[in-house]
Amino acid sequence: MKTLQDINFNGKKAIIRVDFNVPLDEQFNVTDTTRIEAAKPTIDKILADGGSVILMSHLGRPKGKEEKYSLKHIVAKTSEILGVEVKFVNDCIGAEAEEAAANLKAGEVLLLENLRFYAEEEAGDEAFAEKLAKLGDVYVNDAFGTAHRAHASTTIIANYFPENKVFGTLLAKEIDSLDKVLKNSQSPVTAVLGGSKVSSKITVIENILDKVDHLIIGGGMTYTFIKAQGGNVGDSICELDKLDLALDILKKAKENNVEVHIPVDVIAADKFGNDANTQVVDVNQIPDGWQGLDAGPKSLENFKEVILKSKTILWNGPLGVFEMENFAKGTISLGEYIGEATEKGAFSLVGGGDSVAAVKQFGLEPRMSYVSTGGGAMLEMLEGKTLPGIAAIQG
Ligand code: AMP
Repeated sequence: MKTLQDINFNGKKAIIRVDFNVPLDEQFNVTDTTRIEAAKPTIDKILADGGSVILMSHLGRPKGKEEKYSLKHIVAKTSEILGVEVKFVNDCIGAEAEEAAANLKAGEVLLLENLRFYAEEEAGDEAFAEKLAKLGDVYVNDAFGTAHRAHASTTIIANYFPENKVFGTLLAKEIDSLDKVLKNSQSPVTAVLGGSKVSSKITVIENILDKVDHLIIGGGMTYTFIKAQGGNVGDSICELDKLDLALDILKKAKENNVEVHIPVDVIAADKFGNDANTQVVDVNQIPDGWQGLDAGPKSLENFKEVILKSKTILWNGPLGVFEMENFAKGTISLGEYIGEATEKGAFSLVGGGDSVAAVKQFGLEPRMSYVSTGGGAMLEMLEGKTLPGIAAIQG
């Protein structure tokens, strides 16, 4: 894998695809700077070498040029975070952008206007990619969040840098973390899959069955598995058209010697709301009118035992409806067990959507080995797909 460390950027202009798709409030203040901070190590390395940096990103989903999606809103914050005064140009291609790029001196940073002001970006247009490519000497992709899209700036542009294209630090770390879980893992390997539906996780489950020793299934998926085995799930979320699929997964798991752990008890509620009445019941005896919204205490004990003996842990999807305080305990406890296992030397990767939100919300992020920055991109990697943005650099 070719990385930043393989290149000396002295005197070079690096054009970097970053993911600065940050949330803004009504006054256009950046309300979460995580993504800008995440790109800093890559930018720092290039500047320290004596190079200059051209940053390109998308922001939101503009239809044509829409002022509210201008990247000019983030210039001040980006300058503050990078500790360098960031220059801005009103376009991402064309004469003005070319002039600004040409005038860039060593140690300077230029931010281009929103790539998605041009429909050609998402269409993966070659002529547009070529115009972007003209601006820099080396192409760096550090935008994991869009690596699963074959857009002009994430994939097509790489064709114009056959010898001079590399992964940024962030993207390299994402790939490396996933490799540590699915390729060069240390046993026992445990995957925890939660979330709402079996249907959205089926490809992930199928891809990891020959790579893990333990599979913990939680969240709303639980009830499809329980119903498939003849249990009563009351009014719990359940995909009736996926019962055969659930049995098939259990069969395949057995063939692969994967131990499957499903909740044995749950916190059942008499409605879907934080103010519902609750009771702890066995998972296969949920009364009608009640629905399971979190894992129960016995289940958590079982999961704890599995997690604490694991050396590699992948976590995707919450164990319950963590957005409601009364059903967040399972997810929080699981995060704590993973934190404890990590402190004892296990490698833990959290990624792919809502579990990342949960980990951040409950302050568990520092206790995990790695928390992925790309929801959809991480899910596709877990599904075993080759992401176009990654293939473009490797090819
Ligand atoms: P996903 O995007 O598939 O990872 O699903 C995440 C969502 O699943 C979260 O918003 C949770 O509230 C929801 N969820 C987790 N457990 C349950 C459950 N037992 N019943 C309904 N929804 C659930």
